[in-house]
Amino acid sequence: HVRRIDDIPRFQAAAQPGAVALVQGERRLTYGTWEAAISAAAGELATRGLHPGDRMMIVAENGVVLATLCHAAARLGAWPVILNARLSAREIDTITAHAEPRLVAFATDVSVDAAGHAERFATEEIRWPELPAFLLTEPREASPEPVHDDPSRDVAALIYTSGTTGTPKGVMLSHANLLHVARFSGHLRGLAPGERVFGALPISHVFGLASVFLGTTLYGGTLYLVPRFDPAGALRLLADERLTVFQGVPAMFARLVEHADAAGVPVQAPALRYASAGGSPLDLALKARTEERLGVVLHNGYGMTELSPTVAQTRMDAPRTDDSVGPAIPGLEIRIVSADGEPLPPGAVGTLQVRGPTVMLGYYRNPAETARVLSPEGWLDTGDLARIEADGSLFIVGRAKELIIRSGFNVYPEEVEGVIGAHPDVTLCAVVGRRAADGNEEVVAFVQTRPGAAFEEAALQAWCEERLAPYKRPTCIVWLDTLPASSTGKIQKAPLRERAAGMEA
Ligand code: ATP
Ligand code: MG
Repeated sequence: HVRRIDDIPRFQAAAQPGAVALVQGERRLTYGTWEAAISAAAGELATRGLHPGDRMMIVAENGVVLATLCHAAARLGAWPVILNARLSAREIDTITAHAEPRLVAFATDVSVDAAGHAERFATEEIRWPELPAFLLTEPREASPEPVHDDPSRDVAALIYTSGTTGTPKGVMLSHANLLHVARFSGHLRGLAPGERVFGALPISHVFGLASVFLGTTLYGGTLYLVPRFDPAGALRLLADERLTVFQGVPAMFARLVEHADAAGVPVQAPALRYASAGGSPLDLALKARTEERLGVVLHNGYGMTELSPTVAQTRMDAPRTDDSVGPAIPGLEIRIVSADGEPLPPGAVGTLQVRGPTVMLGYYRNPAETARVLSPEGWLDTGDLARIEADGSLFIVGRAKELIIRSGFNVYPEEVEGVIGAHPDVTLCAVVGRRAADGNEEVVAFVQTRPGAAFEEAALQAWCEERLAPYKRPTCIVWLDTLPASSTGKIQKAPLRERAAGMEA
């Protein structure tokens, strides 16, 4: 019965109309009310000129406006293009020019940044019953894309990648793509009606969209929409609202633990039963500290926008103490190939490829890049180096693009980051390569320290000497107040690489 993403609220409104679907601060929307708001919004958007195959851009942070407009647009057969309001004006304008939306909405109630961006567009304020007010543009010229009335061919969302390695790419994900992840990743975390789920992962990113937002509502749980993560607010929800499920990126857990350590009181999480991290490498020291603080296992998962995103997830009945991201989720095939595309045996490190129902339809308006990553046989090349053990567990070694080759030896930045990140004074670490005068590559580490901890490069170098082979040790370790992060909380390496290149050798 649920074949399209916008069937989810309709289905739950029929099954349990009085259950709470969404919480935003003091506001609580039941499935019945939410579905009514979606229908009303879809009707309004249609009269305002939104057609099937049009793009509808939503510039927002997590909140009921975003949650409602996303489904309203999808119900009309339009493509929601969800952008994090924390993107810069330049980034928003680049994506607007690329996506050519018919309409743009700005969720100004939860986001001052959305209000700031709206100033560059002609907008009117919209007020509908049940929804906070938001700003909407006049319809603009845009050519609609064809609609097939087929959930595995129609675009359910156009999502831009994090831009960690370059300019964000627009990824076309079908209804079937997103529902596969919502269904299986939700099932693997035991979601059900009555679950209270933390919703700070941005819905503008596919991890927040498919796994958290669609996953929770597909199973009829309650999602606590948090526009902007802050550790004190998260701890309050864990204690007062008795959250049962908590998903985040590693940086969120780092801030949560740091805050709890500074407060010096035990974390109150009386109903928490499941926590998981994903989106970037999970440091084992952080995993241990988080588990100690929260009192539950911190699961790990791996994915990418092009794969809707979840590829692998550790299982509740098989918690790990290592840094495996677990086996593939049901329905997917994963394999490791060599540089020349030959499949490799268990244990060998090579490029990870994935095939199955979560593989994107393609990059929007970029068939050349689509053809580069997607083979005619349906394998998507992730660009990540990984290995698969004989029991099927996947280990991510690092991005192929970030591999540092020093005197002919491979240095995986993630390994060095893991070692430095385990130092008790370090909260975050990012390692990049720098081309040396002799053409060789050097290892440069950037660190962010705990508040109050003194930074001593020599002490950290000694720590590395005890734990890393000489060729893996950083040539220098640089302290930064805060490491540059994208709107999804991922450390951005491009500015760090530039900075390293410009430093005195
Ligand atoms: P862009 O493609 O624009 O450079 P991005 O790759 O960071 O940005 P996403 O799709 O958000 O955009 O991120 C996917 C990538 O994140 C993966 O390819 C992988 O490198 C990394 N990643 C995700 N989860 C994990 C994990 N659990 N462990 C290690 N790396 C991870
Ligand atoms: Mg990527």
